[in-house]
Amino acid sequence: MRIESDIKLGFKDVLIRPKRSTLSSRSQVDLVRTYTFVNSKRTWKGVPVIAANMDTVGTFEVAKALAEHKMLCAVHKHYTLEQWQSFVDEADDSIFDHIMVSSGTSSNDMAKLNQLMTAHPKLQFICIDVANGYAEAFVEFVRKVRQQYPDVTLIAGNVVTGEMVEELILAGADVVKVGIGPGSVCTTRVKTGVGYPQLSATIECADAAHGLGGLIISDGGCAIPGDVAKAFGGGADFVMLGGMLAGHDESAGDLVEVEGKQYKTFYGMSSATAMSKHAGGVAEYRASEGKTVKVPYRGPISATVLDILGGIRSTCTYVGALSLKELSKRTTFIMVREQENQVFG
Ligand code: 5GP
Repeated sequence: MRIESDIKLGFKDVLIRPKRSTLSSRSQVDLVRTYTFVNSKRTWKGVPVIAANMDTVGTFEVAKALAEHKMLCAVHKHYTLEQWQSFVDEADDSIFDHIMVSSGTSSNDMAKLNQLMTAHPKLQFICIDVANGYAEAFVEFVRKVRQQYPDVTLIAGNVVTGEMVEELILAGADVVKVGIGPGSVCTTRVKTGVGYPQLSATIECADAAHGLGGLIISDGGCAIPGDVAKAFGGGADFVMLGGMLAGHDESAGDLVEVEGKQYKTFYGMSSATAMSKHAGGVAEYRASEGKTVKVPYRGPISATVLDILGGIRSTCTYVGALSLKELSKRTTFIMVREQENQVFG
């Protein structure tokens, strides 16, 4: 047994220190980033915020709405080939810049992925997502998908440490998804005692990935726009959101009314709800169970998106970053014992 004594930080442990700035308005801040991926060699341009590949959030409806803001959606893996076909038939080709196909690592997942990639050769992102990105078999799977699809941009995860980020990039991933345990409907830390505070995971993994020309997604744990800004400030190239995008018209989940208030159900992809819905098909998704919760119904997703993007733009003006690209260079985190004033809740 070993104990590492440096303290690892979550979003709630820090604030971003303001810096002298020449920017006068947040409308001057450019959130569009251009990335060229290390292995696929493709170039992508957009606002690097991604809807999580959960069946309540990674929906076709969310994909369409986020594409209007140049953002991405990791479409969940439970749509049928027919549903994909009708979605693609209705959309125009630019949608392919804004969607990722999700896959697990079972032979069924691989067969479905191959069918989808054959039916829709314009798909340019594959997100391979497993419970535990530390398994040797996972690295082998990533290698296999890379061999089969040399020019598709590959996302692989989840892990939380630099050495595993490097191994996945060397195996063929372009982008590594980072986060174990921070999710809003995740109980991994409760059930297993395993995890890594998300800001430190982001900082350390970004550093490892960037050393090899790779990128990372900070996945999970953002509850407010300030957390998204902190993830970018910590070096995340992309930020993935589940709970913050749940509860909208475009999100899936039953709309229920309790004491005159409307809610939408939201659940982890390894919760009992997801398990029963997908008949055991997601049993391996995450190391442990997830929660099922009701989130207040929030109407169209675009209002929430504008709130999040407005927050990040404002962060940039506070530190003098003209564009999102400059944010991490201009970020100094201060460790704190307080966040927002809670007098009025
Ligand atoms: P959020 O933005 O809601 O805090 O986190 C979203 C992330 O939580 C997802 O992208 C995924 O990585 C993770 N997640 C989703 N469902 C589950 C689950 O059932 N169990 C665990 N451990 N993590 C989950």
